[in-house]
Amino acid sequence: MSEYRPLTRCVHSGGYLDEKVGGVTTPVYTSSSYRFSESGGEVLYPRYYNLPTQKAVADKMAALENGRTALVVSSGMAAISTTLVALLAAGDHAVIQNDVYGGTFHFLSELSRLGIEYSLVRSQDVRDFAAAVRENTRLVYFETPTNPLLKVVDLRAMAELGRTKGLLTVIDNTFATPINQRPLDYGIDVAAHSGTKYLGGHSDLCCGVVVTRPDLGDKIAETAINHGVVLGAFECYRLERSLKTLALRVRQQNVNALALAEFLAAHPRVKRVYYPGLPDDPGHETAKRQMSGFGGMFSVEIKGDRETARSVVNRLKLFTHAVSLGGVESLVCFPALTSHAKMPAEEREKIGITDALLRFSTGIEDPDDLIADLGQALAG
Ligand code: PLP
Repeated sequence: MSEYRPLTRCVHSGGYLDEKVGGVTTPVYTSSSYRFSESGGEVLYPRYYNLPTQKAVADKMAALENGRTALVVSSGMAAISTTLVALLAAGDHAVIQNDVYGGTFHFLSELSRLGIEYSLVRSQDVRDFAAAVRENTRLVYFETPTNPLLKVVDLRAMAELGRTKGLLTVIDNTFATPINQRPLDYGIDVAAHSGTKYLGGHSDLCCGVVVTRPDLGDKIAETAINHGVVLGAFECYRLERSLKTLALRVRQQNVNALALAEFLAAHPRVKRVYYPGLPDDPGHETAKRQMSGFGGMFSVEIKGDRETARSVVNRLKLFTHAVSLGGVESLVCFPALTSHAKMPAEEREKIGITDALLRFSTGIEDPDDLIADLGQALAG
């Protein structure tokens, strides 16, 4: 599939025709039990992640991310926790970006219980990650762009750090999707996703994906088999169906987010826009090098306080005030009340997550309609 571009890969990789009747969509194998063959061969079983319906969607994700192998699991957290537990052991140390998704941050206490140490790095600069490496460091874990301030980490520099120090590099690639960013191309070892976001894309599916190379894939699959974080046949089918339109959806989300970010950056009631697609964003040059689109997520600080921002949100008609992201419909939320609710207000404000910060997940609506909606909400 490597000869084909993303739009084509979304449709044609992984899935296959139903040979029995000639149907053009991948058949769904619902059986949890398969006839045993005494002459050998693979034992098929859902929790072994080897049913054709599971493999079809995993192969599609591997093709999209330019990985060699992929594992489809029951949630984004299942993808992340399984990867970290599979690749780290008691006595190991990991360097972890401080800005990771709140659920991932929460999971770190589990690592401590397993005797795995970690250091947090509050920076996007790879030199700061390097400075945190110890003799027993085995792995570096990060996101780019980050939530909610869309900070950008240099993938090439991170992969180089991994290579020179003998560390595994693991990224949560949820925000970018394989359409906008393919970290394995830069030498990153593992890309994990919350498929609940852009991959599913319709806010009606909970799943996760890990894409990597075969040796690490086998290790992660072994842990996944033990943990049993399996995704059912119908969900696998729905994810595969959603992935057929991933490139189309993400392209429109890129266009919409850029148009909205530009509109808001010039608006007198807006203090600051965080979006790597804007030329004066600190992450712009790095994002331009390593991303083929800047993504559908951006954040905006409204001039005023939480009540001012709340009144803007209340006037919006096309944006639902809701958590999560990546669906076809536009959403808006307050990071101070959601992902960073547990952080003391003073600390939050210091890193830019003020009470008047709004995070937007752009859908696939017409950008002019979204701009008009934001315009009326800000003018109100
Ligand atoms: N990674 C990121 C960046 C997320 O935003 C989320 C969920 O919001 C997750 C991982 C966890 O995904 P899930 O809810 O599918 O477990």
